[in-house]
Amino acid sequence: MNAVERLMGEQFGVVRAAALLRYLDRSTLRALVRTGQARQVIHGWYANADADMRAITAVRAGGALTCLDALELHGIWVPHGERAVRHVRPGSGARQPRLSISGVRYCEPVGCRPPTARAVDSPIVAMLSATECCSAEEFVAICDSMLHQGFVERDELDQLLSAYPARIRSLVNWCDGRAESGTESLVRFRLARAGVKLRPQVTVVGIGKVDLLIGRRLIIEVDSREYHGGQEPYQRDRRRDRRSAGRSYIVVRLTYADVMFHWDEALEDIMQIIRRREHLRPLPAR
Ligand SMILES: [Zn+2]
Repeated sequence: MNAVERLMGEQFGVVRAAALLRYLDRSTLRALVRTGQARQVIHGWYANADADMRAITAVRAGGALTCLDALELHGIWVPHGERAVRHVRPGSGARQPRLSISGVRYCEPVGCRPPTARAVDSPIVAMLSATECCSAEEFVAICDSMLHQGFVERDELDQLLSAYPARIRSLVNWCDGRAESGTESLVRFRLARAGVKLRPQVTVVGIGKVDLLIGRRLIIEVDSREYHGGQEPYQRDRRRDRRSAGRSYIVVRLTYADVMFHWDEALEDIMQIIRRREHLRPLPAR
């Protein structure tokens, strides 16, 4: 892979001419356009054949792809759902937003305007631009996913959000990078907010790491749409459930649909166990 291909790949296929011209001269760039290996998106920006369409839209709208769209491109958890609009951070100076562009929503961080030198914002700038486009629990799940993947450190989050309103800053207290999926983050956040004391990603002897442990023996396992498809995970999950039952644990397994569409029902079932204080009963000696 040559330097230009690498640059294009790193930037989701949409690159400033100035960045390309660090690696090739103008006549080579013209030759790439002639042979269809690159095309001009707007003046000063080029795309390759694999370019991300959302990034192209952002550049055409005069900014950088940001917020939920950029987070998703970086492999960070974002809420699912139909998103007809592109989240674009307006450029400064000559690249002011053209407010009439339909299908584009302009989002940006509070208190700073980093340059739009790339077509797709970095994970941190994208996260800082997302606070108005997601709910509190979704923002916690986004931060969890970033912490889990090492895109940001916990202490950094406090600092990065220092200019934000208290309702956003306080969400950092709920973040936990141990969560292994977005749905797990949502469940942890909702249970904790309901006053349930729990521990995430606890290793239980004979069973392994469980998503959430409440009290001594209530295990909550959260299936995420991303990680629980296919026969092999199905077998593994049933084996774990059987083992847990054999060791007198109570296992509540939540599907993606339980979390996203039937949460009240799922919460009530969990709360019934807690109200009966079954989660606190000592485990029998083995
Ligand atoms: Zn947005």
